[in-house]
Formats: sequence, C-alpha cells, structure tokens
Amino acid sequence: MALYKYGNNLDQSTHTNFDTERAPGFISPDSGIYRCVHCGDEIAANKGNPLPPQNHHQHSSGQPIRWKLLVCTVQKA
Ligand SMILES: [Zn+2]
Repeated sequence: MALYKYGNNLDQSTHTNFDTERAPGFISPDSGIYRCVHCGDEIAANKGNPLPPQNHHQHSSGQPIRWKLLVCTVQKA
C-alpha cells in the first residue's frame, strides 16, 4: 500500500483514468504510481512510456498483471 505523510499535498480526483485496468506494456497515459489489482505491487511510471511487462512479477494464481492508476502526478505547464 502506498504511503504518504502530508495529505494536504494530495487532491482527490474522480477522473476515469483511475478506474481503468491497464495491461502490461500499455503506454501509460499519466505519470504516477500504478498498482497491480491482483497483488498490490506498486510501480512508478512516466507518461508515454510502457507499463512494466507481464514478466515483471508472477502471481501464484496465474492471473495476469493488471495495472491501475493509484496516484497521478500533476506537472505545471
Ligand atoms: Zn501483481
């Protein structure tokens, strides 16, 4: 589970990008932290780069990795 210390630096969002499960290798639409919905493993990804591949980690159940956006970084333009 991701950790943070100062909640006043985080804003809640209802954007649908937080609801979509992404396959390994999918080109990340956002920079931020992604969490595997099956095991809770977390990674950091940069916008425009592929999410980690299927061999990033294995599930004993055999379920495929599915990445879901957990925290999205907001860059100033
Ligand atoms: Zn996993």
